[in-house]
Amino acid sequence: MSKSEITANTEKESLHFIEEIIEADNASGKYDNRVHTRFPPEPNGYLHIGHAKSICLNFGITNKYQGKTNLRFDDTNPEKEETEYVDSIMNDVKWLGFDWEDRLFYASDYFDRLYECAIQLIEAGKAYVDDSTSEEIREMRGNVNTPGTNSPYRDRSIAENLDLFARMKAGEFEEGARILRAKIDMESPNMHMRDPALYRIKKAHHHRTGDEWNVYPMYDFAHGLSDSFEGITHSLCTLEFEVHRPLYDWLLVELELYRPQQIEFARLNINYTVMSKRKLRQLVEEKHVNDWDDPRMPTISGMRRRGYTPAAIRKFAKKIGIARRENIIDFSLLEFCVREDLNKTAARVMAVLDPVKLVITNYPEGQTEDLPLINNPEDDSMGSRTVPFSRELYIERADFMEDPPKKFFRLGPGRNVRLKGAYIITCDDFIKDENGTVTEIHCSYHPSSKSGSDTSGIKAKGVLHWVSIPHAFTADVRIYDRLFSDPAPDSHKEKDFLEFINPNSLKTITAYLEPSLKSVKAGDRFQFMRKGYFCVDPDSTDAQLVFNRTVALRDGWKKKS
Ligand code: ATP
Ligand code: MG
Repeated sequence: MSKSEITANTEKESLHFIEEIIEADNASGKYDNRVHTRFPPEPNGYLHIGHAKSICLNFGITNKYQGKTNLRFDDTNPEKEETEYVDSIMNDVKWLGFDWEDRLFYASDYFDRLYECAIQLIEAGKAYVDDSTSEEIREMRGNVNTPGTNSPYRDRSIAENLDLFARMKAGEFEEGARILRAKIDMESPNMHMRDPALYRIKKAHHHRTGDEWNVYPMYDFAHGLSDSFEGITHSLCTLEFEVHRPLYDWLLVELELYRPQQIEFARLNINYTVMSKRKLRQLVEEKHVNDWDDPRMPTISGMRRRGYTPAAIRKFAKKIGIARRENIIDFSLLEFCVREDLNKTAARVMAVLDPVKLVITNYPEGQTEDLPLINNPEDDSMGSRTVPFSRELYIERADFMEDPPKKFFRLGPGRNVRLKGAYIITCDDFIKDENGTVTEIHCSYHPSSKSGSDTSGIKAKGVLHWVSIPHAFTADVRIYDRLFSDPAPDSHKEKDFLEFINPNSLKTITAYLEPSLKSVKAGDRFQFMRKGYFCVDPDSTDAQLVFNRTVALRDGWKKKS
């Protein structure tokens, strides 16, 4: 058992620190026993497995404490956001098994209210319009060791600020000409409190408000206020927002608004991948992968296409837990969860990925038997199917050895094996071509050894999967390896993460499948016996099925790393 599997088996039933906070708040009546969270994606890319952690946390808390979770698009960045991303995000959250019911919101729904809040701050002398260039503003901000200095525009009159801000909104000034800043403290040890920007001029088209606005709120301004407007109780975010919390609180106090509490937790990091949306977008745009849902991507849509199940991802989120300490999770823990779930739910079928021909010389030519095989030994309710057996079969090339060692329980001259669901066979002979490659294996079968009614008394240690050549059909099978060959591709100072792309991350082979698979549809998942879990890809056509290997039966990364 790998280390990750051992950790995976020690289920933590105790509360995580956010649940402890919620239970204490419920005990003290802080929010009148309400629990209301939100998942606030920025629609500038597809969701990844890190987002899945956040989704499972926010909606999981709701399920546990009979609370509510809002889905809110943080769409304050007009240029980068697209409806395609909005749709994909909604689809992914639903697929993971969660429901925001009627609580779908957009930060852009609040643009009027946010603008009013900005006016309120100006009127209270807590915000001002700054005409400095972005470079001047950067210089005046100082750095962690040097206090900042006040802008020459900081003491503008309220009337002048109101006038200028209204004209910014009206589109009178160019982008970058002016910004609205909070008037807090240029000497604060927290850089985010040094008169942070609240509004900037942007003359971009917004996916929902069109060309109505020429000013857009900054994330820090819009986010906490949106939480407050929606009556959120616990605003859960990743650790990098800890330093933003004083500003989150300051705005709500100054505006005398209802105050949710922001709580930070460690983001999910997984080895052998990248998780920033910017880098994922780069992989797509520069065509290192086929699209956002390429099965090699750590996106939710990629994992879905690969064959991962929502239950496996939820299980993974539960196993990794919630803490404040940053760490890196082994990708094989996620794969372990996928295997565990598919073992229970995926039908077993036979497919030969690297075929060699096997002829049963004493089996009548032209004869066919329909043999019953059960679909899943873990679940009787999944029933059984019949698989045709005949004189000529394919087996895996690796299941035969010309001169096998003693412990090789598969086929070799003079050895017996059972063909799954069929008969015990004995290998009598084999044929090689001029290159020494085995082209045909000749065996005889034992008619009294039929599975389910074996009276032969013959022993066979190994069980091989097979397909009947006249009945089998071919399909493309995409075999994936990690997308990156380095455990931390984006952690190298000197090298770009793209340099660590694994050139062998996708290999397509032709496999021979049992005929029951002819009627499958995209998204169906199977265990190809002894080979792993596979999922039907949407690229499949009536003429040619395409399968993705979801995960091998065993953790193949251990020996590599
Ligand atoms: P990225 O850094 O990948 O671009 P982001 O944080 O900018 O992601 P958002 O759309 O703003 O993406 O994130 C929505 C929510 O998902 C936020 O609450 C954020 O904290 C959370 N989140 C993002 N990445 C992770 C992660 N790796 N682990 C846990 N939560 C995450
Ligand atoms: Mg973000």
